[in-house]
Amino acid sequence: MAIDFKKYIASVQDFPNKGIVFRDITPILQDGDLYRQATHKLAEYAKSRDAEVIVGPEARGFIVGCPVATELGVGFVPARKPHKLPREVESASYDLEYGSNVLEMHKDAIKPGQKVVICDDLMATAGTLHATKELVERLGGEVVGAAFYIELPDLKGREKFPDTDIYSLVQYH
Ligand code: 5GP
Repeated sequence: MAIDFKKYIASVQDFPNKGIVFRDITPILQDGDLYRQATHKLAEYAKSRDAEVIVGPEARGFIVGCPVATELGVGFVPARKPHKLPREVESASYDLEYGSNVLEMHKDAIKPGQKVVICDDLMATAGTLHATKELVERLGGEVVGAAFYIELPDLKGREKFPDTDIYSLVQYH
């Protein structure tokens, strides 16, 4: 039977700022069976897109993306916040639902032509996806898909990427 992941996502009013409803995925992570099943759904998707590497933006993209990569037996590449990676990096800035930030990837992290699926917990405005995709493409990779636990369709993130296949487990309007 299909799992209703929404049942296990906590909605927290006014976090981190007033007026924001934060969707908290930690109840999924702390249940081994749920975490495995959520991972499996994203891994099935990434496999269907012929992913050769998974890229996850810091920090929840690591939690979501790493187990997907290990299930598929492909590599994982972190897109990190500034000054965390020790070698030469490519950088891209992005706007968040609340605030802005910069993401960086090692310049040699992606092989030319490699097929990438980007994984993260939630897509809101898709600023994070935009920056991550830009980094992958500047490094010569091809983004063949993006997968999330949660999508907020009213923020129209998906519409910013008409040519990118996007998958999400649950949606909140
Ligand atoms: P976007 O860049 O699409 O506007 O925002 C998505 C990013 O912000 C993701 O990396 C995600 O981790 C974080 N984020 C924004 N809002 C939420 C939320 O309500 N819940 C969770 N878990 N993450 C959020």
